[in-house]
Amino acid sequence: MQSYIVMQGRTYDEEKELGVLWSLQRDSIDNVHHFWERMKEVNEGDRIFHYVKGDIVAISVAKSGYREEQKPTNISLPGSENAKGYLVEVEYHELDKPLTVEDSFDEILPLLPIKYSAFQENANGNQGYLFPCNEELSIKLVELIADLNIYEIDEQQLEFVMGTVQKMEHDFLIPILAETESETKTKLRLGHQRFRNELLPLWNDQCALCKVELPELLQASYAKPWKDCTTKERINPNNGILLCRNHDALYQNGFIAFDGTGKIHISSRIPEEDYEKYGLAKRMTVNRTEKNKPFLKWHKKHMFKE
Ligand SMILES: [Zn+2]
Repeated sequence: MQSYIVMQGRTYDEEKELGVLWSLQRDSIDNVHHFWERMKEVNEGDRIFHYVKGDIVAISVAKSGYREEQKPTNISLPGSENAKGYLVEVEYHELDKPLTVEDSFDEILPLLPIKYSAFQENANGNQGYLFPCNEELSIKLVELIADLNIYEIDEQQLEFVMGTVQKMEHDFLIPILAETESETKTKLRLGHQRFRNELLPLWNDQCALCKVELPELLQASYAKPWKDCTTKERINPNNGILLCRNHDALYQNGFIAFDGTGKIHISSRIPEEDYEKYGLAKRMTVNRTEKNKPFLKWHKKHMFKE
């Protein structure tokens, strides 16, 4: 099961009415765009978060994969009559209480990918249609939506109306949120587990920097984080280093990085006199392979805090 974020704006009501997602295939000068091409990746059972003017207003479940279809007449997109498009049938579940992205942006921002993010750094939505939603972001959105939309029924109220206060829509929403969360968490856990199992022996089961060996203290540390990876990169054991929890935290937060030769770079935010406290030294290197190189470089370029 994959998740996506669709940016709908003024066509939301029309698409909801028809129970579809619909996009163009090419723009007026015949260019293809990733946010339209992504329609072809949707499979039955995938989840879609619907974004309209600052809010996530609905979550839907895809009923099937895409098919090619001209714009349904009910959808008003001027200039796209007779244009070829992609259509996916989905089941919409509108939220009682929409999630305003800006209100929770502190929690959302760290989970956004560098490439193809649905949102800009100022919390505005990006131009486009269908964006990817990685597992960590999907779990976060479900949590935030659940906080707003799943509320305990007041016990006194319950006595009066015998539990019939919940709206039909609400009854459908809860299982969808629960299922999305549990399936996504399982996928994430299995992915991490496989990555760790394959990465451990590559580093002789010890921290690449301080040689700590207690398994409980060892982390399979991603160079290119899960949110930014392709499916293959997520389980590629070359995309990481085995580090103890201390060094992993320094690496994940960009306080240290490694260049193509494996040499450590330490952020200027850590004063030299503190290096020892953090178990760091200027001349440290990790025993990287050629296959680690592109991932270590990616991390240094995008995550290192000079
Ligand atoms: Zn260490």
